[in-house]
Amino acid sequence: MLNKDANERGIAEAIAYASSHGIIVAQSNQAAPGTSLSHAPMTYKPSQFDATCYKEAQRITPALNKLLYRIACNRAYLSAALEETAAADAEFTGRLLALMPLAPAPGTGVEMGIYRYDYFVHAEDAARSLRMVEVNCIAASFACLGTKTGDMHRYLASMSLYDAVSPDALPRNDAMSGLATAIATAHAQYVALYAPDVRSVVMMIVQPGECNAYDQYLLQTAVWGKHGVELIRMSLLEIHMYGSVNEKGRLRIVHPRYGQEGVEISVAYYRAGYTPNDYPSDKEWHAREIIERSAAAKCPSVAMQLVGTKKIQQVLDQAGEVEKFVDTEEEAASIRATFARQYSLSAADGGEKAAQMAIERPDDFVLKPQREGGGNNLYTDELKSALQSMSGKERSAYVLMERIRPVVVENILIRNGMHSLTNIVSEFGVYGVHVSTDGKDVLNGTGGTLLRSKAASHDDGGVAAGVAVLDSPLLIE
Ligand code: ADP
Ligand code: MG
Repeated sequence: MLNKDANERGIAEAIAYASSHGIIVAQSNQAAPGTSLSHAPMTYKPSQFDATCYKEAQRITPALNKLLYRIACNRAYLSAALEETAAADAEFTGRLLALMPLAPAPGTGVEMGIYRYDYFVHAEDAARSLRMVEVNCIAASFACLGTKTGDMHRYLASMSLYDAVSPDALPRNDAMSGLATAIATAHAQYVALYAPDVRSVVMMIVQPGECNAYDQYLLQTAVWGKHGVELIRMSLLEIHMYGSVNEKGRLRIVHPRYGQEGVEISVAYYRAGYTPNDYPSDKEWHAREIIERSAAAKCPSVAMQLVGTKKIQQVLDQAGEVEKFVDTEEEAASIRATFARQYSLSAADGGEKAAQMAIERPDDFVLKPQREGGGNNLYTDELKSALQSMSGKERSAYVLMERIRPVVVENILIRNGMHSLTNIVSEFGVYGVHVSTDGKDVLNGTGGTLLRSKAASHDDGGVAAGVAVLDSPLLIE
């Protein structure tokens, strides 16, 4: 279906732009590199987004980065907060928690984080306000394809293909550079601190057959092209086979692909490792362990990955918790203002009462396990029957979150060359970038933004899960 803003020419230009500028994904995880490609799912136009919320989400990012870093440094706090969850989810959260003590002491060497804080604009308040959906501490993706989607929308606006959208109303975004700079900064800090006597490189830890590999290759190109830093790709299984860490913590990879003399790893940047599926055997856990023991800057460390669990996000919603880690009341209040209510389902925290409340009003809540990547949460009837059938211990692997009601707007979604006019909701992501050496900040800021939209009728799911599409904001006052 077409409306006045979606003439045939415009849709064709969007598809051609995306395909010719690398806004692409593989259509199957069995496809050989460079084959079976499609343009990424995307919106035809930029979607309307509240300008005040857009600015506020970016303003609070350095304070959020600091909050996460300080929690990651407090292993006793993390262990205590995750004890029950780890027991209920022993094979994943439990195994990660067991690796945490193996890393070098917090506040030493080069530490880094690339985060993405995801928000909806909540529609039910008199004033529209930000509500944080979640914090991602590992493998926050789509910075490069998102950057290029914004460029595409600006190009189409400049061609006057949209009704009443000036390219000047579209904010600049360069998340691709933001992430590349963070990685290159950590690399430079590592080289300065340890002066490796062999070639040192950044290692991106990837899933075999990743459909979103082109977003990763674009980042690799930016790290090399803008900073002259080499980046290699390795799976956890390959690291198990070709990696080792010596007594000084130097992580080395000796793999024929990268030269027989071997390379030293300055930064271990994860685009895998966030789901139990990435650890089919003890070999992958061994790879995780040698990286964790090493002096390489880990993005993220196990501790930081655990900070990103749904459980810690629920704990932070409790009174006084954010306040333990930030410097000022203003920072705490600004961060808290974005929180939706979250509830523990642990018996010790009154979880029975919270579960009962959700069983009575299942449409008002989301039930979240300790998983990442979209498609894992439970809603409405599924939420209700899950809560009714789970034991107390099983429940404590989940948290309960108040359901956010995002603003609905209209846009045209383009998928696989087909387009359809759809009511959508948009999730706004802000990348946080943080690098510190021996506990002192070298970089703490915002690394650009991402807008992803999905049909308002879908409860869950990201771009990789096949539900959301890439978008960019058209700011409205
Ligand atoms: P994941 O780690 O799987 O990405 P999220 O917490 O981001 O987990 O949840 C996945 C999706 O579910 C989000 O992108 C959003 O569309 C939806 N969602 C999550 N929390 C809420 C909430 N409190 N209210 C409404 N929708 C939510
Ligand atoms: Mg998410």
